Amino acid sequence: MINKKEQTLVIIKPDGVQRGLIGEIIKRYEKSGLKLTGLKIVIPTNKLIESHYLVDLNWKTKVGEKSIEAYKKKGLISPSENPIEIGDRVLNNLKKYLTSGPIIAMVWEGMNAIAIIRKITGGTEPLVSDVGTIRGDLTIDSYEVADSDGRAVRNLIHASGSAEESEKEIALWFNKNEILSYRLVSESILYDVNLDGILE
Ligand code: ATP
Ligand code: MG
Repeated sequence: MINKKEQTLVIIKPDGVQRGLIGEIIKRYEKSGLKLTGLKIVIPTNKLIESHYLVDLNWKTKVGEKSIEAYKKKGLISPSENPIEIGDRVLNNLKKYLTSGPIIAMVWEGMNAIAIIRKITGGTEPLVSDVGTIRGDLTIDSYEVADSDGRAVRNLIHASGSAEESEKEIALWFNKNEILSYRLVSESILYDVNLDGILE
């Protein structure tokens, strides 16, 4: 059965807040038809960031492999061929990046929320994220520049990658009573089986 109330965690990272993009970013998600059910501004701790990324036990390996692959695709040599070593370095740099100032944490809800939010967000590396996505349109970073400057890729957003991840991530960032349950009038046109409430 399709979960019409799927939830996903979205974070506007410090670069999004500092560049005055909070409204623009929320607008893009809001226009999709998904519903905002949780929202807060916080300065995260190192511990929260570490717990957040390590909810997925294979995260370090995956991040490392993705980075090596991105270098290969461009015909460049990766600074390391060891995925876990890259993962360790990325996690340290992410802690510096994400605790550097306030971030916006949000829960978005609706049919296919995880996939829809990731599509609107775009791929991890802004240099090659699709045009029309948040990362593709609103910023300019790349793995190569981030690595040579010894910092995390600044890509404006975090968005949960799977239902399992989103459940664990939301529990880390929000108390249960901070996530609201309510109806949007606009939901009828997206979800109702019979469109019989429109004509007078
Ligand atoms: P996010 O988890 O933020 O939604 P993602 O799933 O697209 O993004 P991950 O592969 O999970 O990306 O990496 C998490 C974050 O770590 C990235 O969004 C980026 O900010 C940073 N990052 C990933 N790989 C590297 C790297 N090789 N060098 C520097 N920073 C990186
Ligand atoms: Mg991820």
